[in-house]
Parts: sequence; structure tokens; C-alpha cells
Amino acid sequence: MACFCLLITCHSSLVTGFNVAKKNKTPMSRGTIIVISAPSGSGKSTLIKHLMAHSPGLCFSVSYTTRAPRATEKNGRDYFFVSPRVFKGMVARGEFVEWADVYGHLYGTAHKQLLAAQEAGLDILLDIDVQGHQQVRKRLPEAVSIFILPPSFQELSRRLCDRHSDTPEDIERRLQTARKEISHWPEYEYLVVNDHLKDAVQALRAIVRAARFRRPSQARRAEKIIESFGG
Ligand code: ADP
Ligand code: 5GP
Repeated sequence: MACFCLLITCHSSLVTGFNVAKKNKTPMSRGTIIVISAPSGSGKSTLIKHLMAHSPGLCFSVSYTTRAPRATEKNGRDYFFVSPRVFKGMVARGEFVEWADVYGHLYGTAHKQLLAAQEAGLDILLDIDVQGHQQVRKRLPEAVSIFILPPSFQELSRRLCDRHSDTPEDIERRLQTARKEISHWPEYEYLVVNDHLKDAVQALRAIVRAARFRRPSQARRAEKIIESFGG
């Protein structure tokens, strides 16, 4: 994956942990916040990996979590892995834009991640669950939201089994949760069915590209142009 960690100074603190495809956006445009949610196993991580590799100017919001890292995961790249005590301290200090209990573990998006991306003029992708999206929607109504659906329940079940990363009990739990999660799809602006991977990646790229031309993202740029008209 063509991404690396970026160090950004923001409000006198050093923010680490951004996974960035490449930075080549005009600073005139304000970064767009893009939320992606999906039931576990639908292919969201796979899609995000492809999207990040082909979307210059898009960075990935690294969440905090209390769950243990998987074999291939790295602290600061995939998640910031913290203890429940540290996580709850951050909650108490209001450091999260949103946070939720997902499959028995705590997950949250820190404000400083979004601030640093916005100040750098980067778009930022949030891979969060439906509870997190509901909080983001209230706090940041300008955020773009995408829901990913698998082609069917049977295919979701097959993908979870074939991934060989969860116990049968865990898979059952994820499938049960999926039944509830999919009912939230109407809360999202865009729906992408991950049937053929290539088509789904193309759809996501089109959405990210279009999001950059939404009025809120272009406001700063437009104001500069209007200013040049002398009014
Ligand atoms: P999630 O992040 O949503 O939990 P993953 O990205 O880990 O899901 O994908 C779950 C499994 O499904 C993985 O083994 C992945 O290779 C596979 N997969 C992802 N997208 C597709 C697709 N379009 N067709 C078939 N298999 C897929
Ligand atoms: P996993 O443990 O498989 O990486 O992620 C489990 C679920 O937690 C996924 O649905 C993922 O989108 C969600 N998640 C990851 N980070 C966050 C976060 O910061 N906030 C919320 N609300 N959910 C998250």
C-alpha cells in the first residue's frame, strides 16, 4: 500500500499516525471528511487499501482501540492500541469526536486527527461503525458518508470464514451484529455493494473525487476568487 506516516504540527502538538496516499492538493480547498461503514467481513479494509493506494490527497484516520493488535497490525499505522484506562481518560478529557463499544472493545476517533488533516488540506477517511457515524453526523454534518454492503448474507458468511482471522464464535457474533448494522444503510449518503472488487473500488474513487467539489470543500477557494473581484 502506497502510504506512509506523516508528521503534522497542529495547535502546538505533534500529531502522528496519518496514513497518506500522497499530498498534492491545493491548500485552498478544505479537506473533506469521509466516513465508511460496513458489516465486518464485507471487504471494507480491502476496499480502503485499494482506495488509499489510488487517491492522492487522501489520508486515513488512525483510530484508538482497546482491542489487541492482530499479527499483521502495527501500532500507529492500523490503530493506536491503548489500555481501557488510557482510552477512558481520553473520553473524560473530551478528546474524541466519536467513540463506541464495538464487539466488546472500545474504538474512537481523536479530534486532533481531523484537525491536522483539515489544516494540511487533506481529505480524511474514517473507517468507523454505525454508532460512530451517528455521532459524526450530529457533530460534523458536512461529512460525506458511504455504506458498504456485501452482495448477500451467504457471501458475507463465506468471506468471514475464508478470512481465517476470527474464531467460529467471533464469526457468529459478527454475523449477528451485521443483521443490525445493515438496517442503518439509509442513514448514509452513498451505498456501494462490494460484489466485484474492481467495480466497488471505482465507485469509491468516484465518490471521493466528487466529494472534493462539494461547496463546503471549495468554500475557501471560492472566497479567494470572489475577493479578487473586489467585492
Ligand atoms: P472487512 O474489513 O470489512 O472486515 P476484509 O477487507 O477483511 O473485510 O475482507 C473480508 C474477506 O473478503 C477477505 O478475505 C477479503 O480478501 C475478501 N474480499 C474482500 N472483497 C472481496 C470481493 N469483492 N470479492 C471476494 N472477496 C472479497
Ligand atoms: P476491527 O476490530 O475489525 O478492526 O474493527 C471492528 C469495527 O470497529 C469495524 O466496524 C470498524 O469500522 C470499527 N471501528 C474502527 N475504528 C473505529 C472508531 O474509531 N470508531 C468507531 N465508532 N468504530 C471504529
